[in-house]
Amino acid sequence: VPELPEVETIRRGLQEHLPGRTIQRVETSGKKLRGAASPVPLKELEGRRIERIDRQAKFLLLRIDDGSTLLLHLGMSGKILLHDPAHPAPPHTHLRLLFDNYTELRFVDPRRFGATRLHPTGPIKELEHYGMDALDPRLTPEHLEGLLQQSRAPLKSFLLDQTKIAGLGNIYAIEALWRARLSPRRSASNTPRSRIPLLLEGIQGVLQDSLRNGGTTFNDYANTLGDPGGNLPFLAVFQKAGLPCPRCKQPIKRIVQSGRSTFYCGTCQR
Ligand SMILES: [Zn+2]
Repeated sequence: VPELPEVETIRRGLQEHLPGRTIQRVETSGKKLRGAASPVPLKELEGRRIERIDRQAKFLLLRIDDGSTLLLHLGMSGKILLHDPAHPAPPHTHLRLLFDNYTELRFVDPRRFGATRLHPTGPIKELEHYGMDALDPRLTPEHLEGLLQQSRAPLKSFLLDQTKIAGLGNIYAIEALWRARLSPRRSASNTPRSRIPLLLEGIQGVLQDSLRNGGTTFNDYANTLGDPGGNLPFLAVFQKAGLPCPRCKQPIKRIVQSGRSTFYCGTCQR
């Protein structure tokens, strides 16, 4: 599942190629993707120009010259590829945007949990309840402390709650807690004050490192060129149950929290 570093890697790939480009042709598969239909028909993008590419949480926001926004979400298995239009489109391509520089953006999503929606000018309702982005420079230890104090959820579930901090998924929540030496089972409000700066460093450190490595690929994720990310060998505990903790050499445990696997070291994470 693409998380913040993967989506940000794609954003950078799009930002490099698309601003200033005009969309000449829009084609859709006509198949329904997750959630609501596009508020504005995607065909309206024809003749419009891309201004810039933003990201909020795991949403890509392509800002259009008429003030509208094309929202793209990769869901479980989505990819956004920039291809030569002569290159055959892969199966499960649900949206194709042909640009005036003879590049085609292809939104490919076999499982169809993704989203492609064109929103008119103004705030996008479904983004309003998201918390501050995990890489937002305004996310300080003080801000994090305020959020932690209000939550009785286990730390792991707290980190996955997008209304608190946006953009952390299962892999990076697990890795951040390992770096901060905090147990995923500890109640969020019970996080010692002295450890909160460490937790923030853990969160931002795992995301920045993954971004530097081009994201983490297990099955599907690829950047806009179709290349996998290189971060997998750098994960410390994710999917390593029974293997020695890289820090204290005790075996890594696996538990299930809110239906998701958690991996952690019961010895050095407290
Ligand atoms: Zn350990």
